[in-house]
Amino acid sequence: MQELQVWRYHADALQKEVFMKKISIYPGTFDPITNGHLDLVKRALRIFDEVIIAVAPSQKKQPLFSLQKRITLIRNAISTLKRAKVEVFEGLLVEYVRKKNGIAILRGLRAISDYEYELQMAHMNRRLDTKIETVFMMPSEEYSFLTSSIVKEVVSFGGSVKDLVPAGVEKALRDKLKNRK
Ligand code: ADP
Repeated sequence: MQELQVWRYHADALQKEVFMKKISIYPGTFDPITNGHLDLVKRALRIFDEVIIAVAPSQKKQPLFSLQKRITLIRNAISTLKRAKVEVFEGLLVEYVRKKNGIAILRGLRAISDYEYELQMAHMNRRLDTKIETVFMMPSEEYSFLTSSIVKEVVSFGGSVKDLVPAGVEKALRDKLKNRK
């Protein structure tokens, strides 16, 4: 009887190990999504079975685009990436990761300037939940200095950001910034 219980226990553990999808959560403001963000998602999909892009409202940052518009732009950008999803997240990140059965938080490291803030966040999140890892990935070199802010600035002065943002994002930026003037 006891042997059967032990066997069941191991079978359950094995099933969890083999069948559980490895999910990572990529949190951020994505105001708007850039090819740097997208590059990171594609790289992460080589390691994880699923990447959930978790869009934070980030009201404090006074985003240019509404939450819904940011999500729509992301959804269009990832339409060919079958294992990538986009969702809204609010509140404590580790709680959201647990709810989604995620095993890792995905963050991008571009230049050294990202490092201090990212380290702080990673340590705090580890303190809040030791089982959730933060995984940092580097984008392709061409996106190493690309930020959503710089893209907004360039478009606001009439410059082109073609090749730096997914299709549809440049037009959305132009429309939005035109209405602001
Ligand atoms: P926030 O900084 O508010 O969390 P962002 O949308 O600016 O939201 O960034 C989300 C994540 O994406 C961060 O880890 C950031 O370092 C990363 N990231 C932003 N731009 C790039 C890029 N060009 N290449 C790789 N990672 C990036």
